[in-house]
Parts: sequence; C-alpha cells; structure tokens
Amino acid sequence: MFEDTDITLLLTAIRFAAEKHQKQRRRDEVTPYINHPIEVATVLWSDGKVRESEMIAAAVLHDILEDTQTLSQEIQTLFGDKVLAWVEEVTDDKSLPKQERKRLQIVHAQSASPGAKQIKMADKICNLRDLMVRPPHDWTLDRKLQYLSWSDQVMDGLRGCNALLESLFDQVLQEARQHYRQTSPGMPL
Ligand code: ZN
Repeated sequence: MFEDTDITLLLTAIRFAAEKHQKQRRRDEVTPYINHPIEVATVLWSDGKVRESEMIAAAVLHDILEDTQTLSQEIQTLFGDKVLAWVEEVTDDKSLPKQERKRLQIVHAQSASPGAKQIKMADKICNLRDLMVRPPHDWTLDRKLQYLSWSDQVMDGLRGCNALLESLFDQVLQEARQHYRQTSPGMPL
C-alpha cells in the first residue's frame, strides 16, 4: 500500500514538471511536452511493475534538468537526494555536441544505477512509440532508422534489471521496424 506521502510526492512532481515544461512541445511540435514524462512514469508503473514512488517521481522529472531552466537545488529541496540523483543520472550534458551526447548514452548505460536504467528503458520505449505515432515532420526514413538502431545500442547497456521493460522494448522495437518495412518494402532492416 502507498502512504499519503507517496501520493503527495507524485502529485507535486507532476505539477512541478507541468509548470517547467509548459511552453514546450514534443518533436511533432503539437503534443504538449508534459505528456511524455507522464507516459514514461506510466510505463514504469503499469508495464515495469515498479512500486517505488520516488522512482516514479524521478521519471516524471527525468527531462527537467536537460530541457528546462530548473536547478538541481530545486529538485533536491522538493523531492530529496534520491530523486535528484536519478534525475541527474539520466540527464545528458547539453554543453556537448549532439552526436557526442548520443555516443555517451551508449557508454554510460551499463554503469548506471538500476533505478536510472529502468527510467531510461521506459524513456526509450516511449520515444520509439512516439516516433511511430507522432514523428517529427522533418525526419527522413534514414534518420528514423538510425534512431532505432541507436536506441537498441543504448538498450544493450541497460539490460539486466527489469525483464518486463526489456521485453516490452524488444516488442516495440520490432513493431517500429515492421512499421517502417511496410512504409518502404524491400528496405533492409
Ligand atoms: Zn524523455
């Protein structure tokens, strides 16, 4: 069972993230950004069967340091050290060029804590689904396929701490490949 404090923590995280992401949209430029962290938290809870409220709260906050002006201190004050540590672990260093950030995600995946790995897995699952359902307008098929194989490479390092999320990722990746195979028959995948 969950305590009052668990629900309070979660509602505070959702409200805080909604305020911080309020002016942002997803890559399709239509969907409100906050939908994404809520989906990531839902995948952890519903599909990954994660029952640690602080990990669910960290999932709601997972893009907040990377994509908004939020300070680590704010997260620590409102949500504590454990949540902050997970959010920091899943945050890319935005001072680096994009390709380098993507390479480092592959490198760092294996050494991440089990909590950060599970948040990352749920994030990758949601991003692959988004790519199929509401893709960025300006992405070529080639770029989408590169994104799929990069996600798979990051996933290699994340495996070993939640079999449910791993098999869901494999299933969604297969669906995505099939989706693009139908779009472009004869394409090697
Ligand atoms: Zn994300």
